[in-house]
Amino acid sequence: MDANDPAPAPRVELTGFGLTNPSAASLVEIDVATAAAAIKDLPSRGGIARGLGRSYGDPAQNGGGHVLRLAPGSIVVDESDHTATVGAGVSIDDLLRVLVPRGYFVPVTPGTRYVTVGGAIASDIHGKNHHLDGSFGTHVTNIRLMLADTTIVEIGPDRDPELFWATVGGMGLTGLMLDATFRLLPIETSRISVDTYRLGSLDEVMTEMVASESDFRYSVAWLDLLATGRHVGRGVLTNGAHATAGQLTAAEAGDPLEYRADQLAVMPPLVPPSGVINKLTVKAFNEMWYRKAPRSRRGELQSIPTYFHPLDLVGHWNRVYGSEGFVQYQFHVPDDAVDVMVSIIHRLAAAQLPIFMTVLKRFGPGNPAPLSFPQSGWQLAIDIGVARRRIGPLLGAFDRMVLDAGGRHYLAKDATMTPETFRRGYPRLAEWQDIRARVDPAGVWASDQSRRLRIT
Ligand SMILES: Cc1cc2nc3c(=O)[nH]c(=O)nc-3n(C[C@H](O)[C@H](O)[C@H](O)COP(=O)(O)OP(=O)(O)OC[C@H]3O[C@@H](n4cnc5c(N)ncnc54)[C@H](O)[C@@H]3O)c2cc1C
Repeated sequence: MDANDPAPAPRVELTGFGLTNPSAASLVEIDVATAAAAIKDLPSRGGIARGLGRSYGDPAQNGGGHVLRLAPGSIVVDESDHTATVGAGVSIDDLLRVLVPRGYFVPVTPGTRYVTVGGAIASDIHGKNHHLDGSFGTHVTNIRLMLADTTIVEIGPDRDPELFWATVGGMGLTGLMLDATFRLLPIETSRISVDTYRLGSLDEVMTEMVASESDFRYSVAWLDLLATGRHVGRGVLTNGAHATAGQLTAAEAGDPLEYRADQLAVMPPLVPPSGVINKLTVKAFNEMWYRKAPRSRRGELQSIPTYFHPLDLVGHWNRVYGSEGFVQYQFHVPDDAVDVMVSIIHRLAAAQLPIFMTVLKRFGPGNPAPLSFPQSGWQLAIDIGVARRRIGPLLGAFDRMVLDAGGRHYLAKDATMTPETFRRGYPRLAEWQDIRARVDPAGVWASDQSRRLRIT
């Protein structure tokens, strides 16, 4: 080894946010200047980019190979056309601190602000506004992508659209994104005007969601999966819109674009292996959460972190499930299969599982990306501690119901899918594989997930 050579990358054990399926890889810290050398140095097991590791399973892991972590990079806002060009390693947290005081919001935010722009595009993330605005990739106009042979290409909806759409939702398997340009949403204030409805049954929740979806940019429902009888699937619907300057109080109007995003607490690491989630604690939590919501409240002004990122208030909250971790089961079914969604929710309620994180959303039309998850219809996401192994057969039955209905599961949340489930859910896989073979014939980009699901 030459004295000027960088120190070899440390071998570290990595997991996703669900803390399941750890694997050891060499974690290589890179920036735009050192990326090509790092790619040329990849072992036969290949490499994969990693953002902030907020995917729940193993897409940002590559056991026995290299994992490349890109330094944040710059944020350049172009106010003439309301776009930003941002390093792929920049987080939505960093972005909002720059954008909001300047009167802009990101086109799509997930339920945590600790994701990178690279991760947002690779998973083609959706937010509470999918029914109106689509997913993140829909707002991207340009990506600078470093390919497996280290050439850099610029791609967009009008420039090599096949490779562009294969990269959107492509889970890092077409190349390393260096930066991206995307459209911003101009906002007058940093507040969200929120209407809240406490609804006593699943039917009421779904009916209200459909009735109100065109009136609100943002819409999401939390469901109580431990409620029984005629209250099965009762929940709290929160619809939001960016508040206008005229909606602020005199005190707030002094700094309409004030933005603060603090973390209030950090979950200690010493939670018992099986966690603190059980039927009693979850029943109490769900009852409290449901009762604390007003029956109906209009136009409450909330901050961006309160409305969009409440989970970020507690750092490392994923430790609540214990060291065995947890999985998120997230699926979509088309509108004409609403009965499948209803049936799955009823079966979950009948099983009386300790589930407190239950998110029901409406999706609008999908985009052209072959591996993008969202399509018109309904989506449900639930978190389940993996200690509850008896749920395996139930989820297997749900898989079949979802796939038979023309639905699919989300790669960014997946830790347990089989190659067969994946293939049935993503019927355009062969089309994506042809594009991937064009830009990475030797199979340089690889992850634990890509091997597990045989994506490439
Ligand atoms: C609490 C919580 C709430 C969430 N809510 C939502 C939600 O509402 N909607 C939603 O859609 N998702 C949601 N997610 C999932 C999250 O948005 C995605 O998993 C996202 O991809 C994570 O970004 P990351 O930077 O952590 O990427 P990682 O998890 O590190 O990586 C994800 C994928 O991106 C690829 N990647 C990362 N950077 C690059 C790059 N520079 N070039 C090429 N590929 C790259 C990786 O290879 C990997 O395949 C949530 C996650 C959490 C933990």
